[in-house]
Amino acid sequence: MSLIERQYQRHETIILGAGISGLTCGLYLQERMSDFLILEQDQRVGGKIFSIREDDLLLENGPNALLIKRSSKVVKEVLAKLAISERLVYPPKEAKARFICKKDQLIKVGPKILFSDMMDWRGRFKFALGGYSKRSLKHEAEESVFDFFSRKIGTRATENLITPLISGIFAGNPHSLLIKTAFPKLYRGDRRSRVLLVGMLKERDANKKLAQTNQSTGTLDYKIKSGVCTLIGGLRDLPQSLGEKLSKHIRCNQEVWKIYRTENGQEWIVESKTHLFQCKNLVVTIPSYDLATILQQSLPAFTSKEGQFFQGLEEKLNGIRYPWLSLVHFTYKKQDIKSSGRGFGFLNTHENRDRFTLGAMFPTYMFPGRVRKQEELFTTFVGGDLYPERAELAPEKIMESAHQEIKKILNIDASAPARSFIYTWPKSIPQYDIYHYDFKKWCEEHSNSFSSMRWHWCSNYWNGISITDCMENAKNVAMSISKE
Ligand SMILES: Cc1cc2nc3c(=O)[nH]c(=O)nc-3n(C[C@H](O)[C@H](O)[C@H](O)COP(=O)(O)OP(=O)(O)OC[C@H]3O[C@@H](n4cnc5c(N)ncnc54)[C@H](O)[C@@H]3O)c2cc1C
Repeated sequence: MSLIERQYQRHETIILGAGISGLTCGLYLQERMSDFLILEQDQRVGGKIFSIREDDLLLENGPNALLIKRSSKVVKEVLAKLAISERLVYPPKEAKARFICKKDQLIKVGPKILFSDMMDWRGRFKFALGGYSKRSLKHEAEESVFDFFSRKIGTRATENLITPLISGIFAGNPHSLLIKTAFPKLYRGDRRSRVLLVGMLKERDANKKLAQTNQSTGTLDYKIKSGVCTLIGGLRDLPQSLGEKLSKHIRCNQEVWKIYRTENGQEWIVESKTHLFQCKNLVVTIPSYDLATILQQSLPAFTSKEGQFFQGLEEKLNGIRYPWLSLVHFTYKKQDIKSSGRGFGFLNTHENRDRFTLGAMFPTYMFPGRVRKQEELFTTFVGGDLYPERAELAPEKIMESAHQEIKKILNIDASAPARSFIYTWPKSIPQYDIYHYDFKKWCEEHSNSFSSMRWHWCSNYWNGISITDCMENAKNVAMSISKE
């Protein structure tokens, strides 16, 4: 008998991946006494959430902060269930300032920006009218984020303000992201009214009504404030606490490499290198490129009809793009930093695509206690969909060029940083562009097939990339599985 046969196991539900999506889904399933197992290829849980300690520094190599939205209960619910809300850390008031960097000058984001050369008269006029514009004649699959904002606040403001913002959120390019899928609330707001502000208010009211019908499912900790935050030990505290709570249901070091249907076509077989599992419900949280590889390996195990279907899916998954992105962390001695403008961080404008970094965050100010008192920590971002060619550069070159840029912007009087670290994601964040749109459309067209196979999408290329979006999606999936 092979090793695989001996270790055969059946569960009602198998979740592929123990990132924030898989773990949140597991938490809600656990409360409903479901029989489920989470399979994770890595030895740690958390996926893209990846805080590390280097010397006496706390570095975030993945997301830097969690946004607790007032309108969303899931994050508050999960924090309360894990009893870790007292470990939340919010930035002090003075650290809330955000900057746009144009030609090495930091400009604070605020009302004054309306009167700066970041906007032209046309843009100011449109802005003063609440983002008024005619309806777009473009099809939903054609209007980019850039087109949308150009309609609402003019081209100059879009170049100066929206392009940096998109590089900060998606590591993306506003010319390729689609407004419909990347910012669905804005898209719906625009459909509700030609004045964006009015449309967004209508959209908010509609969402409020929806939220009333979608009551929370547990104790809410009302002391938890909304806003940007992290946890004392970094964002990894969240997946780690989830991992501890779900320890009986998680198998790490289990790289799934094949999935296919049982002979009677009723259930799933999930294979890792050493184990064989069977389940009724399959929850997919792993990145699209990993899923495409698994499907490719599994094709011979499907019937020809299933094979055709999954080959079609594999093609669509392979279309989803994740730009290369490096995070470079620097510390400098405080006495060497001459510029005083500090807060959350800055994002670069990219008029002539002449910047090296996308921007930088100032963790020392946002979340104190992450670096020695005499030093300041900066995290810069390099690459993304605006500068894919940077992936060709050697790490030493990336670090040197990022240092030179931040040195100039912050007026740092040091030939080299005190300490520097680099972490690279060859595939960072899924881009909600036309290829992603095609993938979603294909899945919608085949939604009956997915639901008859009890296949559940719960990933950051489904309903939003933020940690909050992932958690909301995961809760919905868990609730729908437990109702079945
Ligand atoms: C650099 C960066 C900065 C970001 N900044 C922010 C931010 O500030 N705020 C914010 O809200 N969001 C941010 N995001 C987005 C957010 O972090 C992610 O969208 C979210 O964490 C994704 O979670 P997930 O569980 O869906 O996927 P993942 O975290 O990718 O988890 C998937 C899991 O599946 C596992 N897996 C893959 N293949 C297999 C296999 N074959 N078998 C078993 N397991 C497998 C992986 O190891 C991983 O653990 C950022 C993302 C990046 C990359």
